[in-house]
Amino acid sequence: MKKHNYSAGPCILPQEVFEKASQAVLNFNDSGLSILEISHRSKDFVAVMDEARALALELLGLENRGYQALFLQGGASMEFLRVPYNLLKQGGKASYLDTGTWASGAIKEAKAFGETLVVASSKEENYNHIPKQFEIPSDSDYFHCTSNNTIFGTQMKSFPTTNVPVVCDMSSDIFSRQLDFSKFDLIYAGAQKNMGPAGVTLVVVKEELLGKTGRAIPSILDYEKHIKAESMYNTPAVFAVYTSLLTMQWLKNLGGIPAIEKINDAKAKLLYTEIDRNPLFKGASVVEDRSNMNATFLLNDESHAATFDKMWKDAGISGLPGHRSVGGYRASMYNALPLESVQVLVDVMQELEKKIS
Ligand code: PMP
Repeated sequence: MKKHNYSAGPCILPQEVFEKASQAVLNFNDSGLSILEISHRSKDFVAVMDEARALALELLGLENRGYQALFLQGGASMEFLRVPYNLLKQGGKASYLDTGTWASGAIKEAKAFGETLVVASSKEENYNHIPKQFEIPSDSDYFHCTSNNTIFGTQMKSFPTTNVPVVCDMSSDIFSRQLDFSKFDLIYAGAQKNMGPAGVTLVVVKEELLGKTGRAIPSILDYEKHIKAESMYNTPAVFAVYTSLLTMQWLKNLGGIPAIEKINDAKAKLLYTEIDRNPLFKGASVVEDRSNMNATFLLNDESHAATFDKMWKDAGISGLPGHRSVGGYRASMYNALPLESVQVLVDVMQELEKKIS
């Protein structure tokens, strides 16, 4: 039986994508070859890369606006390093918003390069909210934020207006909601939530931002080199890029980001309504900053955990335990998770309530 997969990542992808990707492993484009055995320089794969790069920009509404899309390797963690290498000037400074484990991971890497200012942090409250009152010094080379905090279940609902270039780690909510993406100068996202399997990272960068640091950048870390090589500077993650393309095609056919946003809103509403209604549960993050992708919640009385855990497992749910730094539960409701799966979880929560009262 197919599970209701709430894994935080790698995670559920559309069934149609699993099927098409499996088919390509056996026989790609009727070529008599597997996608796993073709050259990345072959005509068929170059076409995949070109379409993936174009479709990423199209879905974000960024075509013909001076942006380039790249599919790179090393995970989002590699971008923690590539971003300062490419944007933080010699003697310059970068501003960061500290909203969780991944944001602080990005800060740690930037500190190795130069002055790195943390404009605000919610660490003291175990990252249960997004700080709102902060100033970004106008002489910053860039401002870095994390749109969705996968571990803590918070999401930025608005972004600061600033004259400084904005860099955003959108690993866990890319392609999930409508934003004016042209407000961002650099967006990066590990594939393994809303885009594809682990192994590739989407980087969308405004080209005019690059080449201004005055520092020597090792080729593999240099966005300009990757752009010049059309995202083929070295062997790309062929299968991960192909599968990401399939997911983006699925999303486009569904109606793009506006269509998936409606579905994501409905899923989040269904679950948060139950978390707030059911006297056995409470949300882990402040209401106004709750993530539509990762809902973190706790049992008010931990002694019910064994019963609840057995019930959701019996209902075919997988991947629900929270990250150890929050505890409790985390329901990751990425684009491909159907509304029906959320209903199954809500039903289990209601059954637990009946059982206990
Ligand atoms: N940023 C965010 C928001 C994440 O959720 C993750 C991973 N879950 C990362 C960065 C790190 O990504 P990776 O493991 O691909 O390096």
